[in-house]
Amino acid sequence: MPKLSVDIVTAEKLVFSEEDVDLLVVPGIEGQLGVLSLHAPLLTMIQPGILRVVKGGEETAMAITGGFIEVRENRVTILADAAERGEEIDVARAEEARRRAEERLASREATIDVVKAEMALKRALMRLKAVEQTRRRRRGAPPPPTG
Ligand code: ATP
Repeated sequence: MPKLSVDIVTAEKLVFSEEDVDLLVVPGIEGQLGVLSLHAPLLTMIQPGILRVVKGGEETAMAITGGFIEVRENRVTILADAAERGEEIDVARAEEARRRAEERLASREATIDVVKAEMALKRALMRLKAVEQTRRRRRGAPPPPTG
């Protein structure tokens, strides 16, 4: 059975590029979207959330803030606004972004852009979730071989 090749790119850089991927689960605008090889051609939007890549029994969790996914002939291209692997996420920065957004939402000032603050809160929460999922997986993983 052929496998998937997956590229995740932002305007700034190539964030992720892997061949032989078994399964990709992305937060599509209509819900979780699972992509296996031989998937029908597809072009759709992604919403902010956790993206999972499964390759050879290993799973990578990534935070993605939205974008597009295209699937064509076992080649998946994701154009993301921003995307980070769990281990690349700066937890203190995400905590600070969450605190800032929560503070804005709690204030009653008329100048607050509620939608913007809600989006910022969502981004911060899903980054923290991606970190948590990555850590949990590591704890569950067998220790690396010694010697
Ligand atoms: P902040 O308010 O902390 O900038 P944000 O949600 O507004 O957060 P984005 O606009 O989504 O940030 O992303 C801007 C850039 O910063 C992207 O390249 C993104 O990958 C990176 N980035 C944002 N937050 C983090 C984080 N906590 N750890 C690592 N990279 C981050």
